[in-house]
Amino acid sequence: MSELVVKNLHVSIGEREILKGLNLTVKQGEVHAIMGPNGTGKSTLAYTLMGHPNYTVTEGEAWFKDQNILELDPNIRSQLGLFLAFQYPVAIPGVSVANFLRAAINARRRNANPDDKGISVPEFRKTLKEHMDHLKMDHTFAGRYLNDGFSGGEKKRAEILQMAALKPEIAVLDETDSGLDIDALRIVSEGVNSLRGPELGVVVITHYQRILNYIKPDFVHVMLGGKIVESGGSELALHLEEHGYDWVREKYEEVAV
Ligand code: ADP
Ligand code: MG
Repeated sequence: MSELVVKNLHVSIGEREILKGLNLTVKQGEVHAIMGPNGTGKSTLAYTLMGHPNYTVTEGEAWFKDQNILELDPNIRSQLGLFLAFQYPVAIPGVSVANFLRAAINARRRNANPDDKGISVPEFRKTLKEHMDHLKMDHTFAGRYLNDGFSGGEKKRAEILQMAALKPEIAVLDETDSGLDIDALRIVSEGVNSLRGPELGVVVITHYQRILNYIKPDFVHVMLGGKIVESGGSELALHLEEHGYDWVREKYEEVAV
């Protein structure tokens, strides 16, 4: 069983330190929620784990499958089985959803087995359709350019479609709930829930408790000032829903910069 172990992670953007000693362990099969006020570094954590070049790691490690992934290129991290669903997915005009997914699936398969011939076209079409049906996506979606002109809800569905196709071992979902109406939130959450199981560890990053009514977390963490300051079960999310973040700020005044 794989696990992602983040130890004492410090990350800066330019001169400014954003993450200030973050620790987190996520095992396959577990669902963790990371909650926190805006600007506490939740997206910074997600981007750093996937290797975005603007985020400089100044201290700490992130271990996955016996490697410190912070030293690896983003594509290698993906091939190892990490996945990030972006808060703000970018459009890639000229690359269709289907071509993008097929290339990504084949890269992951070849990493597992260098002799792999790639997924056959019929098999790919079949699984893609199944996943799209699950996410209530029109099949014409496959032929559209990735995220190009997609609505907010379509972009988030496309992220979950990628997750379904790539079958990661650890997936980080950065504010997948933002910009979704209640129907889209339900569909996207059901999509995530259908992928839940002993093979998949999930980190749901969110500002609001709402998505956690649909995706029930095993563990909830509260981030403040670039650190995880509180951890608990799903009751912690309900407490935040009711009481907001002020009590966290007061309790951890010294870290809330
Ligand atoms: P969250 O996702 O929790 O809302 P972020 O990780 O996006 O927080 O941002 C953490 C802090 O880093 C914020 O204060 C934000 O203004 C700052 N920040 C984010 N991106 C940049 C950037 N590209 N340049 C400078 N500061 C940034
Ligand atoms: Mg964010």
